[in-house]
Amino acid sequence: MDTVIGFIGLGIMGLPMAGNLLKAGYSVIAYDLVAERLGRLVAQGARAGNSCQDVSARAQLIITMLPDSPDVEKAYLGADAVLAGVKAGTLLIDMSTISPVTAVRVAQEARKRGCFMLDAPVSGGETGAIQATLSIMVGGPAEVFKRAEPVLKVLGKPVLCGDSGSGQIVKACNQIQVALILIGMAEALVLGQKAGVDPAIVLTVLSGGYAQTRVMDVRGPKVIRRDFAPGFRSRLHFKDLTIIRETARAFRCSLPGSSLAYEMFASMQANGWGDLDHSAVIRVIELLSNAEVQIAD
Ligand code: NAD
Repeated sequence: MDTVIGFIGLGIMGLPMAGNLLKAGYSVIAYDLVAERLGRLVAQGARAGNSCQDVSARAQLIITMLPDSPDVEKAYLGADAVLAGVKAGTLLIDMSTISPVTAVRVAQEARKRGCFMLDAPVSGGETGAIQATLSIMVGGPAEVFKRAEPVLKVLGKPVLCGDSGSGQIVKACNQIQVALILIGMAEALVLGQKAGVDPAIVLTVLSGGYAQTRVMDVRGPKVIRRDFAPGFRSRLHFKDLTIIRETARAFRCSLPGSSLAYEMFASMQANGWGDLDHSAVIRVIELLSNAEVQIAD
């Protein structure tokens, strides 16, 4: 395919996403601060960029998949950054989960450089990134969305949510629900354990009825085996809960469940569990009840 795609941020999500663009026949030029991550994509056929600016100077469409708002600001607005190298008319798609306020601000800066920008955060986790089945929540002008749609469809299912920033708003809604489902699952498993029921039975029964969710289907079997390898690092979900808090304040919204989730995830960070999967929130619930959920041998 003719379009050269610049891909910045090759972490748990970005690496398989960029790999899927290569498999679809796009030419990809990539960059990550960590050389080992970049090397893994180059081994799949990508070219290596030297900086965000270098990538943006050599591509017609840029995708970023970075951890947090300050990382996105740095990658677009800092020295050696995307907007320093970009050609007018380039399409910029930030797929990181960041603050809607930052998303709108960076999009405005991009417009000043004659570029078009979409916020397009995703849901579906590492599995969705590998299988190209991500749910993609897009904010920005409809005509820009149309231009981006063929590329986004290689990665999953894009849905235009509204103006710039609205993709990030919908992602915040998604993260509320995922956090509260994880906490609900954790409480169910801890109660079952303390009362002497095998957690594997609790999971089987719950996933066969009204309580069934994809979160539980994917994470439940790992949780009861104490497998907390990420997946989605709890420090990133804590970052999302911070975004949710700020957004709720800006829109005068009271979200008691999200506040509870924020405190639980804050406790994970205080306990040094930031690099564990977010499903490790069960360890906070276990601490409260002096329990440990384990399947019977
Ligand atoms: P990650 O920490 O695994 O990867 C981020 C990558 O960005 C790292 O390789 C890092 O070296 C690189 N990076 C940081 N700053 C950079 C810069 N200035 N220039 C170049 N590279 C830079 O994170 P992840 O799990 O892949 O998540 C990425 C984003 O996607 C986050 O916003 C996260 O909230 C969101 N997200 C993650 C998941 C998931 O399941 N992991 C699911 C949905 C959304």
